[in-house]
Amino acid sequence: MTEPKTGEMLHLRGNALDKGDPVALPLTQSSMFHLPGAPDGHASYGRVDNPTWAHLEHVLSHLENAPCLSFPSGMGAISAALFATVKAGSRLLILSDGYYVTRLLADRFLSNLGVSVVERPTTAFADGGFDGFDVVFLESPSNPGLDMLDLPAIAGAVREAGGITIADNTTMTPLGQRPLDLGVDVVVSSDTKAMGGHSDMLMGHVASRDTAIMERIEEWRRVSGAIPGPHEAWLLHRGLETLDVRFDRMCSSAQVLAERLATHPAVKHIRYPGLPGDPSHALAAAQTERFGFLLTITLETEAKAEQFINACPLLRPATSFGGVHSSAERRARWGDAVDPAFIRLSVGCEPVDELWQAIEASLNAL
Ligand SMILES: *Cc1c(COP(=O)(O)O)cnc(C)c1O
Repeated sequence: MTEPKTGEMLHLRGNALDKGDPVALPLTQSSMFHLPGAPDGHASYGRVDNPTWAHLEHVLSHLENAPCLSFPSGMGAISAALFATVKAGSRLLILSDGYYVTRLLADRFLSNLGVSVVERPTTAFADGGFDGFDVVFLESPSNPGLDMLDLPAIAGAVREAGGITIADNTTMTPLGQRPLDLGVDVVVSSDTKAMGGHSDMLMGHVASRDTAIMERIEEWRRVSGAIPGPHEAWLLHRGLETLDVRFDRMCSSAQVLAERLATHPAVKHIRYPGLPGDPSHALAAAQTERFGFLLTITLETEAKAEQFINACPLLRPATSFGGVHSSAERRARWGDAVDPAFIRLSVGCEPVDELWQAIEASLNAL
């Protein structure tokens, strides 16, 4: 594994500065660039180039150890990766229990363009093999189920069958899991979540070491106009500067909370890949760097789950995850195939004992 050097990342800009340059990344909010004569590879127009994204992509590439392109949202990145790799007649395999908007994109748009879309659940994903699939879209752990895929085995089998793999690595970030090193061809991420970390913007990125795929994705961005705003790029860059400390605390706290929640009488069922008895534990131990900051608990009833989420003063009742503020929600409210009392909990950056005291008190009060 090529662990990203996050200290080096913090100095990527600084080490290239000239005397008197600002240390912080300038926000270049411009659609036009001064361009007399031949363009000569200079920044030309805001849909094509922007120095703030260019530096953000330099930092993302350092984290991924691969060329990266940034997008205005996770779905922008996923759309780019899929539209750049499928064509009429392609067969696309996706997860039936993966991020639901990816399924909507496939079902509502790609299938209308002649792509045939097949869905399989995470726990039986390899059943039936991968022959005849041009693109296989992965997500591990699944969200919200937290089931895992054997990424190296699947990536190898798909490649052998002549297809490519795309993995959504949103929940783990490049610090928690390195799909490209596990043999996956393309990584996509919603940087709206832990990468940005402050719940104040939407962004996404695509990473791949396959030059032809990246050229096609860059062309898609330029032609479709799905470009990030410079301000969002700037905010994501700022968020990435603290990713290492945030992610470290979030994962460590999640482990502590999971161990304590597992023995609390109000918790009927818990999933966290870092618990030795969890069905995902073996795969997580083999292929992730950390066990993540997402855990799920099932309480006794929907009413108790709502009461817990809404009454705990250190949990934001909110959809989405990965922010510095811990948050929780009942996924059944969006129609996920889960128990009505099933809660996805995103562990934030609060000190873990303070967080546990608030969670325990709210569970005890049910
Ligand atoms: C949120 C999310 C997305 C979509 O990202 P946006 O930034 O909301 O467009 C994709 N995949 C996963 C796993 C997500 O959690």
